[in-house]
Amino acid sequence: MHKKELIEYGDQKIEWARAHMPVLEIIRKSFEKEKPLEGRRIAMALHVEAKTAVLVETLAVGGAEVAITGCNPLSTQDDVSAALCTRDNISSCAKYECSNEEYYAAMDKVLAIEPDITIDDGADLIFKLHTERQELLPNILGGCEETTTGIHRLKAMEKDGALKMPVMAVNDAMTKFMFDNRYGTGQSSWDGIMRTTNLLVAGKNVVVGGYGWCGKGVAMRAKGLGANVIVTEIDPIRALEAKMDGNLVMPMKEAAKIGDIFVTTTGNRDIITREHFEVIKDGAILSNSGHFNVEIDLENLEDMAKGVRTVRKNIKEYDLGSRKVYVLADGRLVNLAAGDGHPAEVMDMSFANQALCVRHIAENKLANGVHAVPKEIDMHVAELKLMSMGVAIDSLSEAQCEYMCGWKSGT
Ligand code: NAD
Ligand code: SAH
Repeated sequence: MHKKELIEYGDQKIEWARAHMPVLEIIRKSFEKEKPLEGRRIAMALHVEAKTAVLVETLAVGGAEVAITGCNPLSTQDDVSAALCTRDNISSCAKYECSNEEYYAAMDKVLAIEPDITIDDGADLIFKLHTERQELLPNILGGCEETTTGIHRLKAMEKDGALKMPVMAVNDAMTKFMFDNRYGTGQSSWDGIMRTTNLLVAGKNVVVGGYGWCGKGVAMRAKGLGANVIVTEIDPIRALEAKMDGNLVMPMKEAAKIGDIFVTTTGNRDIITREHFEVIKDGAILSNSGHFNVEIDLENLEDMAKGVRTVRKNIKEYDLGSRKVYVLADGRLVNLAAGDGHPAEVMDMSFANQALCVRHIAENKLANGVHAVPKEIDMHVAELKLMSMGVAIDSLSEAQCEYMCGWKSGT
Protein backbone atom coordinates (compact mmCIF):
# COMPACT_ATOMS: atom_id res chain seq x y z
CA MET A 1 0.00 0.00 0.00
CA HIS A 2 1.19 3.54 -0.77
CA LYS A 3 2.50 5.36 2.33
CA LYS A 4 -0.05 8.19 2.10
CA GLU A 5 -2.90 5.68 1.94
CA LEU A 6 -1.38 3.70 4.84
CA ILE A 7 -1.30 6.85 6.99
CA GLU A 8 -4.90 7.69 6.03
CA TYR A 9 -6.12 4.23 7.11
CA GLY A 10 -4.16 4.53 10.35
CA ASP A 11 -5.61 7.98 11.05
CA GLN A 12 -9.14 6.67 10.48
CA LYS A 13 -8.64 3.78 12.90
CA ILE A 14 -7.17 6.07 15.55
CA GLU A 15 -9.98 8.61 15.18
CA TRP A 16 -12.60 5.85 15.59
CA ALA A 17 -10.86 4.47 18.67
CA ARG A 18 -10.46 7.95 20.20
CA ALA A 19 -14.18 8.62 19.80
CA HIS A 20 -14.87 5.54 21.95
CA MET A 21 -12.35 6.24 24.70
CA PRO A 22 -14.05 8.99 26.75
CA VAL A 23 -12.05 8.51 29.96
CA LEU A 24 -8.75 8.86 28.16
CA GLU A 25 -10.18 11.91 26.39
CA ILE A 26 -10.85 13.59 29.76
CA ILE A 27 -7.29 12.78 30.86
CA ARG A 28 -5.95 14.07 27.53
CA LYS A 29 -7.68 17.42 28.11
CA SER A 30 -6.20 17.74 31.60
CA PHE A 31 -2.75 16.77 30.27
CA GLU A 32 -3.09 19.38 27.53
CA LYS A 33 -3.73 22.07 30.14
CA GLU A 34 -1.34 20.97 32.89
CA LYS A 35 1.52 19.42 30.85
CA PRO A 36 2.49 17.01 33.67
CA LEU A 37 4.94 15.14 31.43
CA GLU A 38 6.87 18.14 30.12
CA GLY A 39 10.45 17.09 29.37
CA ARG A 40 9.80 13.38 30.05
CA ARG A 41 11.04 10.73 27.59
CA ILE A 42 8.88 7.61 27.41
CA ALA A 43 9.90 4.31 25.79
CA MET A 44 7.04 1.91 25.14
CA ALA A 45 6.63 -1.68 23.95
CA LEU A 46 2.90 -2.27 23.52
CA HIS A 47 0.63 -3.67 20.80
CA VAL A 48 0.89 -0.94 18.18
CA GLU A 49 -2.73 -0.56 17.13
CA ALA A 50 -5.35 2.16 17.29
CA LYS A 51 -6.23 2.12 21.00
CA THR A 52 -2.57 2.19 21.97
CA ALA A 53 -2.10 5.12 19.58
CA VAL A 54 -4.67 7.10 21.57
CA LEU A 55 -2.61 6.49 24.74
CA VAL A 56 0.60 7.51 22.94
CA GLU A 57 -1.04 10.74 21.74
CA THR A 58 -2.27 11.47 25.27
CA LEU A 59 1.25 11.13 26.69
CA ALA A 60 2.70 13.36 23.96
CA VAL A 61 -0.02 15.97 24.56
CA GLY A 62 1.07 15.90 28.22
CA GLY A 63 4.50 17.12 27.13
CA ALA A 64 6.44 13.86 26.69
CA GLU A 65 8.56 12.65 23.83
CA VAL A 66 7.42 9.09 23.08
CA ALA A 67 9.14 6.23 21.22
CA ILE A 68 7.13 3.04 20.73
CA THR A 69 7.66 -0.45 19.36
CA GLY A 70 5.53 -3.61 19.43
CA CYS A 71 5.26 -6.21 22.19
CA ASN A 72 4.36 -9.07 19.87
CA PRO A 73 5.79 -9.79 16.40
CA LEU A 74 2.30 -10.28 14.94
CA SER A 75 0.14 -7.61 16.59
CA THR A 76 1.48 -4.42 14.98
CA GLN A 77 -0.82 -2.66 12.54
CA ASP A 78 1.49 -0.96 10.05
CA ASP A 79 -1.06 1.72 9.13
CA VAL A 80 -1.38 2.82 12.76
CA SER A 81 2.40 2.77 13.17
CA ALA A 82 2.78 4.95 10.04
CA ALA A 83 0.11 7.40 11.24
CA LEU A 84 1.80 7.71 14.65
CA CYS A 85 5.08 8.68 12.98
CA THR A 86 3.39 11.78 11.51
CA ARG A 87 2.70 13.17 15.01
CA ASP A 88 4.97 15.65 16.79
CA ASN A 89 7.23 14.10 19.45
CA ILE A 90 6.19 10.54 18.58
CA SER A 91 8.20 7.86 16.78
CA SER A 92 7.24 4.24 16.10
CA CYS A 93 9.57 1.53 14.88
CA ALA A 94 7.07 -1.33 15.12
CA LYS A 95 6.58 -3.65 12.15
CA TYR A 96 4.05 -6.41 11.49
CA GLU A 97 5.52 -9.92 11.07
CA CYS A 98 8.97 -8.91 12.25
CA SER A 99 11.55 -11.61 12.96
CA ASN A 100 12.74 -12.27 16.52
CA GLU A 101 15.95 -10.34 15.78
CA GLU A 102 13.98 -7.35 14.41
CA TYR A 103 11.65 -7.50 17.43
CA TYR A 104 14.49 -7.12 19.92
CA ALA A 105 16.45 -4.68 17.72
CA ALA A 106 13.39 -2.40 17.74
CA MET A 107 13.54 -2.37 21.57
CA ASP A 108 17.07 -0.95 21.28
CA LYS A 109 15.75 1.70 18.90
CA VAL A 110 13.13 2.93 21.40
CA LEU A 111 15.71 2.84 24.18
CA ALA A 112 17.86 5.19 22.11
CA ILE A 113 15.52 7.94 23.38
CA GLU A 114 17.22 7.41 26.81
CA PRO A 115 13.90 7.11 28.59
CA ASP A 116 13.08 8.18 32.09
CA ILE A 117 9.78 6.27 31.99
CA THR A 118 8.96 2.92 30.32
CA ILE A 119 5.67 1.21 29.48
CA ASP A 120 5.73 -2.54 28.85
CA ASP A 121 3.29 -5.29 27.98
CA GLY A 122 5.10 -8.45 29.01
CA ALA A 123 8.20 -6.79 30.58
CA ASP A 124 10.47 -7.30 27.53
CA LEU A 125 11.71 -3.70 27.61
CA ILE A 126 12.51 -3.84 31.32
CA PHE A 127 14.24 -7.20 30.84
CA LYS A 128 16.40 -5.68 28.10
CA LEU A 129 17.21 -2.68 30.32
CA HIS A 130 18.38 -5.00 33.09
CA THR A 131 20.42 -7.33 30.86
CA GLU A 132 21.91 -5.47 27.89
CA ARG A 133 21.29 -1.76 28.58
CA GLN A 134 22.03 -1.34 32.28
CA GLU A 135 23.77 1.98 31.63
CA LEU A 136 20.30 3.48 31.11
CA LEU A 137 18.92 2.37 34.49
CA PRO A 138 20.13 5.37 36.55
CA ASN A 139 17.95 7.66 34.37
CA ILE A 140 14.77 5.71 34.95
CA LEU A 141 12.11 7.19 37.23
CA GLY A 142 9.85 4.18 36.79
CA GLY A 143 7.92 1.92 34.48
CA CYS A 144 4.37 0.65 33.97
CA GLU A 145 3.42 -2.95 33.21
CA GLU A 146 0.22 -3.78 31.32
CA THR A 147 -0.27 -7.52 31.68
CA THR A 148 -0.46 -10.41 34.17
CA THR A 149 2.56 -12.33 32.90
CA GLY A 150 4.68 -9.16 32.84
CA ILE A 151 3.89 -8.66 36.51
CA HIS A 152 4.77 -12.28 37.29
CA ARG A 153 8.16 -11.72 35.64
CA LEU A 154 8.74 -8.44 37.50
CA LYS A 155 7.76 -9.91 40.87
CA ALA A 156 10.17 -12.78 40.22
CA MET A 157 12.90 -10.21 39.48
CA GLU A 158 12.00 -8.31 42.67
CA LYS A 159 12.15 -11.52 44.72
CA ASP A 160 15.63 -12.27 43.35
CA GLY A 161 16.75 -8.71 44.18
CA ALA A 162 17.24 -8.13 40.45
CA LEU A 163 14.70 -5.34 39.87
CA LYS A 164 16.54 -2.02 39.83
CA MET A 165 13.67 0.38 39.12
CA PRO A 166 10.14 1.13 40.36
CA VAL A 167 7.31 -0.43 38.33
CA MET A 168 3.59 0.22 38.61
CA ALA A 169 1.54 -2.99 38.33
CA VAL A 170 -1.11 -1.47 36.06
CA ASN A 171 -2.63 -4.88 35.27
CA ASP A 172 -3.51 -5.33 38.93
CA ALA A 173 -5.76 -2.26 39.10
CA MET A 174 -9.33 -3.52 39.46
CA THR A 175 -10.46 -1.22 36.66
CA LYS A 176 -7.93 -3.07 34.47
CA PHE A 177 -8.02 -6.82 35.03
CA MET A 178 -11.70 -7.19 35.91
CA PHE A 179 -12.69 -5.60 32.62
CA ASP A 180 -9.80 -5.87 30.12
CA ASN A 181 -8.76 -9.42 30.97
CA ARG A 182 -12.33 -10.69 31.37
CA TYR A 183 -14.66 -8.81 29.03
CA GLY A 184 -11.92 -7.66 26.64
CA THR A 185 -10.32 -11.07 26.16
CA GLY A 186 -13.76 -12.71 26.22
CA GLN A 187 -15.03 -10.71 23.27
CA SER A 188 -11.86 -10.12 21.26
CA SER A 189 -10.68 -13.75 21.35
CA TRP A 190 -13.94 -14.88 19.78
CA ASP A 191 -13.80 -11.99 17.34
CA GLY A 192 -10.32 -13.18 16.27
CA ILE A 193 -11.32 -16.85 16.05
CA MET A 194 -14.56 -16.18 14.16
CA ARG A 195 -13.18 -13.72 11.62
CA THR A 196 -10.21 -16.03 10.96
CA THR A 197 -12.09 -19.31 10.61
CA ASN A 198 -15.54 -18.07 9.52
CA LEU A 199 -16.95 -21.18 11.25
CA LEU A 200 -19.88 -21.71 13.62
CA VAL A 201 -19.28 -21.83 17.37
CA ALA A 202 -22.78 -23.01 18.36
CA GLY A 203 -22.89 -26.69 19.21
CA LYS A 204 -19.11 -27.06 19.31
CA ASN A 205 -17.07 -28.32 22.25
CA VAL A 206 -14.91 -25.39 23.29
CA VAL A 207 -11.97 -26.14 25.60
CA VAL A 208 -10.69 -23.20 27.64
CA GLY A 209 -7.24 -23.73 29.18
CA GLY A 210 -7.13 -21.84 32.52
CA TYR A 211 -10.02 -20.22 34.39
CA GLY A 212 -8.39 -16.96 35.45
CA TRP A 213 -9.72 -13.56 34.43
CA CYS A 214 -9.11 -14.18 30.73
CA GLY A 215 -10.38 -17.76 30.84
CA LYS A 216 -13.61 -16.72 32.59
CA GLY A 217 -14.28 -14.17 29.84
CA VAL A 218 -13.53 -16.59 27.03
CA ALA A 219 -15.71 -19.31 28.62
CA MET A 220 -18.57 -16.87 29.31
CA ARG A 221 -18.70 -15.66 25.72
CA ALA A 222 -18.33 -19.21 24.31
CA LYS A 223 -21.41 -20.18 26.29
CA GLY A 224 -23.25 -17.15 24.90
CA LEU A 225 -22.38 -18.30 21.39
CA GLY A 226 -23.97 -21.69 22.08
CA ALA A 227 -20.87 -23.81 22.72
CA ASN A 228 -20.47 -26.60 25.26
CA VAL A 229 -17.68 -25.30 27.44
CA ILE A 230 -14.96 -27.46 28.98
CA VAL A 231 -12.39 -25.93 31.33
CA THR A 232 -8.96 -27.27 32.29
CA GLU A 233 -7.23 -25.97 35.43
CA ILE A 234 -4.47 -26.76 37.91
CA ASP A 235 -5.88 -24.61 40.74
CA PRO A 236 -8.61 -26.42 42.74
CA ILE A 237 -10.45 -23.21 43.67
CA ARG A 238 -10.57 -21.91 40.10
CA ALA A 239 -11.58 -25.40 38.91
CA LEU A 240 -14.43 -25.43 41.44
CA GLU A 241 -15.52 -21.99 40.32
CA ALA A 242 -15.50 -23.16 36.69
CA LYS A 243 -17.60 -26.20 37.63
CA MET A 244 -20.17 -24.17 39.60
CA ASP A 245 -20.33 -21.61 36.78
CA GLY A 246 -21.77 -24.49 34.77
CA ASN A 247 -18.76 -25.68 32.78
CA LEU A 248 -17.42 -29.21 32.46
CA VAL A 249 -14.01 -29.53 34.13
CA MET A 250 -11.49 -32.23 33.23
CA PRO A 251 -7.78 -32.76 32.55
CA MET A 252 -6.50 -31.63 29.13
CA LYS A 253 -5.76 -35.27 28.24
CA GLU A 254 -9.52 -35.98 28.33
CA ALA A 255 -10.58 -32.62 26.86
CA ALA A 256 -8.21 -33.14 23.90
CA LYS A 257 -10.24 -36.14 22.75
CA ILE A 258 -13.51 -34.20 22.49
CA GLY A 259 -12.63 -30.53 21.91
CA ASP A 260 -13.44 -28.82 18.61
CA ILE A 261 -11.98 -25.38 19.43
CA PHE A 262 -9.26 -24.79 22.04
CA VAL A 263 -8.36 -21.43 23.59
CA THR A 264 -5.45 -21.33 26.04
CA THR A 265 -5.42 -18.47 28.57
CA THR A 266 -3.00 -19.64 31.27
CA GLY A 267 0.15 -17.53 30.78
CA ASN A 268 1.96 -20.85 31.19
CA ARG A 269 3.77 -23.13 28.74
CA ASP A 270 2.96 -26.59 27.27
CA ILE A 271 -0.80 -26.46 27.88
CA ILE A 272 -1.47 -28.44 24.70
CA THR A 273 1.47 -30.69 23.99
CA ARG A 274 2.56 -34.03 22.47
CA GLU A 275 0.45 -36.26 24.73
CA HIS A 276 -2.60 -34.21 23.73
CA PHE A 277 -1.75 -34.11 20.00
CA GLU A 278 -1.59 -37.92 20.16
CA VAL A 279 -5.30 -38.13 21.05
CA ILE A 280 -6.65 -34.87 19.65
CA LYS A 281 -9.79 -34.96 17.52
CA ASP A 282 -9.55 -34.65 13.73
CA GLY A 283 -10.20 -31.05 12.65
CA ALA A 284 -9.50 -29.50 16.04
CA ILE A 285 -8.77 -25.76 15.99
CA LEU A 286 -6.10 -24.54 18.41
CA SER A 287 -5.66 -20.95 19.52
CA ASN A 288 -3.95 -19.03 22.30
CA SER A 289 -5.12 -15.90 24.09
CA GLY A 290 -2.69 -16.04 27.00
CA HIS A 291 0.90 -15.05 26.40
CA PHE A 292 3.73 -15.35 23.87
CA ASN A 293 3.60 -18.49 21.71
CA VAL A 294 4.41 -21.27 24.14
CA GLU A 295 0.99 -22.37 25.42
CA ILE A 296 0.55 -24.59 22.35
CA ASP A 297 3.68 -26.71 21.92
CA LEU A 298 4.31 -25.98 18.25
CA GLU A 299 7.77 -27.58 18.28
CA ASN A 300 6.34 -30.99 19.10
CA LEU A 301 3.38 -30.48 16.77
CA GLU A 302 5.73 -29.69 13.89
CA ASP A 303 7.86 -32.68 14.79
CA MET A 304 4.82 -34.99 14.68
CA ALA A 305 3.36 -33.51 11.48
CA LYS A 306 3.82 -35.18 8.10
CA GLY A 307 3.14 -31.83 6.47
CA VAL A 308 2.32 -28.23 7.37
CA ARG A 309 0.58 -25.77 5.05
CA THR A 310 -1.31 -22.49 5.27
CA VAL A 311 -4.94 -23.12 4.36
CA ARG A 312 -6.28 -19.60 4.96
CA LYS A 313 -4.77 -16.39 6.31
CA ASN A 314 -3.67 -17.06 9.90
CA ILE A 315 -4.63 -20.78 9.75
CA LYS A 316 -1.93 -23.48 9.55
CA GLU A 317 -2.89 -27.10 8.97
CA TYR A 318 -0.76 -29.78 10.65
CA ASP A 319 -1.21 -33.17 9.00
CA LEU A 320 -0.88 -35.85 11.68
CA GLY A 321 -1.63 -38.72 9.27
CA SER A 322 -5.07 -39.94 10.28
CA ARG A 323 -5.99 -36.50 11.66
CA LYS A 324 -5.50 -32.86 10.82
CA VAL A 325 -5.10 -30.07 13.38
CA TYR A 326 -5.40 -26.33 12.70
CA VAL A 327 -3.41 -23.65 14.55
CA LEU A 328 -4.49 -20.00 14.44
CA ALA A 329 -2.01 -17.09 14.23
CA ASP A 330 1.03 -19.33 14.86
CA GLY A 331 -0.12 -19.83 18.45
CA ARG A 332 0.29 -16.13 19.26
CA LEU A 333 -2.49 -14.07 20.87
CA VAL A 334 -5.44 -14.81 18.61
CA ASN A 335 -7.26 -11.59 19.54
CA LEU A 336 -4.35 -9.34 18.55
CA ALA A 337 -2.49 -11.35 15.88
CA ALA A 338 -5.71 -12.30 14.08
CA GLY A 339 -7.91 -9.38 15.15
CA ASP A 340 -7.83 -5.83 16.44
CA GLY A 341 -7.46 -6.76 20.12
CA HIS A 342 -9.79 -5.60 22.84
CA PRO A 343 -12.54 -3.11 22.03
CA ALA A 344 -11.88 0.59 22.53
CA GLU A 345 -14.27 0.99 25.48
CA VAL A 346 -12.34 -1.49 27.59
CA MET A 347 -8.87 -0.26 26.56
CA ASP A 348 -10.19 3.16 27.60
CA MET A 349 -10.00 1.99 31.22
CA SER A 350 -6.70 0.10 30.91
CA PHE A 351 -4.99 3.03 29.23
CA ALA A 352 -6.54 5.62 31.56
CA ASN A 353 -4.75 3.69 34.32
CA GLN A 354 -1.55 3.76 32.25
CA ALA A 355 -1.72 7.52 31.65
CA LEU A 356 -2.45 8.27 35.33
CA CYS A 357 0.30 5.90 36.50
CA VAL A 358 2.82 7.57 34.18
CA ARG A 359 1.83 10.88 35.77
CA HIS A 360 2.17 9.31 39.23
CA ILE A 361 5.73 8.21 38.37
CA ALA A 362 6.59 11.66 37.00
CA GLU A 363 5.32 13.39 40.14
CA ASN A 364 6.55 11.05 42.89
CA LYS A 365 9.90 9.59 43.76
CA LEU A 366 9.20 5.86 43.98
CA ALA A 367 11.44 3.21 45.49
CA ASN A 368 12.65 0.30 43.36
CA GLY A 369 10.18 -2.58 43.29
CA VAL A 370 6.66 -3.44 42.09
CA HIS A 371 4.04 -0.88 43.22
CA ALA A 372 0.27 -1.27 43.37
CA VAL A 373 -1.79 1.29 41.48
CA PRO A 374 -3.03 3.78 44.12
CA LYS A 375 -6.67 3.17 45.10
CA GLU A 376 -7.52 6.81 44.19
CA ILE A 377 -6.46 6.22 40.58
CA ASP A 378 -8.50 3.02 40.36
CA MET A 379 -11.60 4.69 41.84
CA HIS A 380 -11.15 7.79 39.67
CA VAL A 381 -11.08 5.64 36.50
CA ALA A 382 -14.24 3.82 37.62
CA GLU A 383 -16.02 7.10 38.39
CA LEU A 384 -15.06 8.66 35.06
CA LYS A 385 -16.13 5.52 33.19
CA LEU A 386 -19.51 5.43 34.93
CA MET A 387 -19.96 9.14 34.21
CA SER A 388 -19.13 8.63 30.52
CA MET A 389 -21.73 5.84 30.40
CA GLY A 390 -24.36 8.07 32.02
CA VAL A 391 -24.60 5.78 35.05
CA ALA A 392 -25.24 7.37 38.44
CA ILE A 393 -24.89 5.53 41.75
CA ASP A 394 -25.89 6.12 45.37
CA SER A 395 -23.57 7.49 48.01
CA LEU A 396 -23.35 6.60 51.70
CA SER A 397 -25.22 8.81 54.18
CA GLU A 398 -23.41 9.90 57.36
CA ALA A 399 -25.48 7.44 59.40
CA GLN A 400 -24.61 4.63 57.00
CA CYS A 401 -20.91 5.50 57.23
CA GLU A 402 -21.07 5.37 61.01
CA TYR A 403 -23.05 2.12 60.98
CA MET A 404 -20.57 0.44 58.63
CA CYS A 405 -17.62 1.42 60.83
CA GLY A 406 -19.22 0.80 64.23
CA TRP A 407 -19.70 -2.31 66.36
CA LYS A 408 -22.35 -1.23 68.90
CA SER A 409 -25.53 -1.88 66.92
CA GLY A 410 -26.76 -5.49 67.08
CA THR A 411 -29.97 -7.40 66.33
P1 NAD B 1 -4.80 -15.48 35.87
O1 NAD B 1 -3.64 -15.73 36.75
O2 NAD B 1 -6.02 -14.83 36.43
O3 NAD B 1 -5.28 -16.86 35.19
C1 NAD B 1 -4.45 -17.86 34.72
C2 NAD B 1 -5.09 -19.20 35.08
O4 NAD B 1 -4.41 -20.25 34.40
C3 NAD B 1 -5.01 -19.51 36.59
O5 NAD B 1 -6.30 -19.80 37.09
C4 NAD B 1 -4.08 -20.70 36.65
O6 NAD B 1 -4.40 -21.59 37.70
C5 NAD B 1 -4.31 -21.34 35.29
N1 NAD B 1 -3.23 -22.24 34.86
C6 NAD B 1 -1.89 -22.08 35.01
N2 NAD B 1 -1.25 -23.16 34.50
C7 NAD B 1 -2.20 -23.98 34.02
C8 NAD B 1 -2.16 -25.26 33.38
N3 NAD B 1 -1.02 -25.91 33.17
N4 NAD B 1 -3.34 -25.81 33.00
C9 NAD B 1 -4.52 -25.19 33.24
N5 NAD B 1 -4.61 -24.00 33.85
C10 NAD B 1 -3.47 -23.39 34.24
O7 NAD B 1 -4.25 -14.65 34.64
P2 NAD B 1 -5.09 -13.79 33.57
O8 NAD B 1 -5.15 -12.40 34.02
O9 NAD B 1 -6.31 -14.54 33.20
O10 NAD B 1 -4.04 -13.84 32.36
C11 NAD B 1 -3.74 -15.04 31.69
C12 NAD B 1 -2.75 -14.79 30.57
O11 NAD B 1 -3.34 -13.97 29.57
C13 NAD B 1 -1.51 -14.01 31.00
O12 NAD B 1 -0.41 -14.47 30.26
C14 NAD B 1 -1.82 -12.58 30.62
O13 NAD B 1 -0.64 -11.83 30.46
C15 NAD B 1 -2.57 -12.78 29.34
N6 NAD B 1 -3.53 -11.74 28.92
C16 NAD B 1 -3.88 -11.76 27.62
C17 NAD B 1 -4.79 -10.83 27.16
C18 NAD B 1 -5.13 -10.77 25.71
O14 NAD B 1 -5.39 -9.70 25.19
N7 NAD B 1 -5.18 -11.89 25.02
C19 NAD B 1 -5.39 -9.91 28.03
C20 NAD B 1 -5.04 -9.95 29.39
C21 NAD B 1 -4.11 -10.89 29.82
N1 SAH C 1 3.20 -9.08 24.89
C1 SAH C 1 2.71 -10.38 25.30
C2 SAH C 1 1.73 -10.14 26.40
C3 SAH C 1 0.29 -10.51 26.35
S1 SAH C 1 -0.66 -9.22 25.73
C4 SAH C 1 2.23 -11.13 24.08
O1 SAH C 1 1.93 -10.49 23.07
O2 SAH C 1 2.19 -12.36 24.07
C5 SAH C 1 -1.94 -9.01 26.78
C6 SAH C 1 -2.26 -7.55 26.92
O3 SAH C 1 -2.67 -6.98 25.68
C7 SAH C 1 -3.43 -7.35 27.85
O4 SAH C 1 -3.03 -7.12 29.16
C8 SAH C 1 -4.22 -6.23 27.23
O5 SAH C 1 -4.34 -5.10 28.07
C9 SAH C 1 -3.46 -5.86 25.97
N2 SAH C 1 -4.37 -5.59 24.86
C10 SAH C 1 -5.45 -6.28 24.49
N3 SAH C 1 -6.07 -5.68 23.46
C11 SAH C 1 -5.36 -4.60 23.16
C12 SAH C 1 -5.52 -3.58 22.22
N4 SAH C 1 -6.56 -3.55 21.40
N5 SAH C 1 -4.59 -2.60 22.17
C13 SAH C 1 -3.54 -2.63 23.02
N6 SAH C 1 -3.35 -3.56 23.97
C14 SAH C 1 -4.26 -4.53 24.04
